Amino acid sequence: VQAFSDTIIQNMPSGLIIADKEHNIKSMNRAARQILGREPDFLFPVWVEMISQLTEPSTVISRDIDLELKGSNTKRLEVTASLIEEDQVQRVLFLIKDLTQVHELQQQVETNKRLAAIGKLAAGVAHEIRNPLSSIKGLATYFARRYGNNQADAQTAGILIGEVDRINRSVTQLPEFSKPMAVKRQPVDIDMMIAHSLKLVAHDLETKNIESTVVNSSREGQLHTDPDRMNQVFLNLYINAIEAMTENGCLQILIRDSDSRKHIEIEVKDNGAGMDSSTAEKIFDPYFTTRSAGTGLGLSIVHRIIENLNGTIHVDSVPGQGTSFIIRLPRMIETEQPEGLERKDGQR
Ligand code: ADP
Ligand code: MG
Repeated sequence: VQAFSDTIIQNMPSGLIIADKEHNIKSMNRAARQILGREPDFLFPVWVEMISQLTEPSTVISRDIDLELKGSNTKRLEVTASLIEEDQVQRVLFLIKDLTQVHELQQQVETNKRLAAIGKLAAGVAHEIRNPLSSIKGLATYFARRYGNNQADAQTAGILIGEVDRINRSVTQLPEFSKPMAVKRQPVDIDMMIAHSLKLVAHDLETKNIESTVVNSSREGQLHTDPDRMNQVFLNLYINAIEAMTENGCLQILIRDSDSRKHIEIEVKDNGAGMDSSTAEKIFDPYFTTRSAGTGLGLSIVHRIIENLNGTIHVDSVPGQGTSFIIRLPRMIETEQPEGLERKDGQR
């Protein structure tokens, strides 16, 4: 029985740590070692604090904890602590679950929801603005004709027409956010795609004396994606990176396989100003910008494109050190079901 329960504890998918009330770690299972990346010599301070709240046997407390682990990003853990007593000896049992991926997914869902809501609003606003705009343009055209013999007046009316057209153009782009975006996939050579996009910012890189390097460790030469849309993505990321860097910066593009080569990861990394987490949460929102000349549209468009290419994008940033945007794209897209067709199992 002892051997059997040892095997269960060693192989259970949750991390398990047993400590005494003096905060010494007595034992831990394999999953705990895996989640923490190593065997800690002592309990983390938050955990010690949890122990102090366990006053009576069989009390259970649970907390979500963000843990900064050496050599990896912050992990979100669910830690449940309970007090067990046997032969008058009290022990604390910690159960840990790694919620990092779940947490990231939740954040992505939040962002997507927010963008969808903004898209709906934008479509409504655009519609309301276009009607009065066409009256204004009609009147301006009328005045341009009526005062056509006075050059200054005709010019003023001309400016009015031009500006109305400009508003119309921007407003027309707004509902783009709520409609599905058209993408045209084709086989694309990854190295060529990156080289082409870098060429477009070569001048900006040179002016600021920024070095760019590409490291491709993927074993796949090709990707099935929309090269024009991806170009748009890279340009936006490069321009932001260049903005964030001072002279002699370094722009890195790192390409690698992930998920047994089902996906490709492309990382665009700079060593610029970086941003704090409250900024990083909002960068994909349309119109969010910290730059006086910014529109705040770049990254929201990037987000939409990647979403439409069935990929994901996320940001890792450290203020003062730099920023990484990590794009994950499926290498191949399975042919989509024609709309409205019933699936074999009866589900739509
Ligand atoms: P814009 O460039 O017009 O400000 P974006 O949507 O492209 O709009 O970016 C939004 C904001 O995200 C920027 O104003 C900036 O604060 C932040 N940002 C984007 N990329 C980077 C980066 N590489 N380094 C630091 N901050 C960045
Ligand atoms: Mg930008």
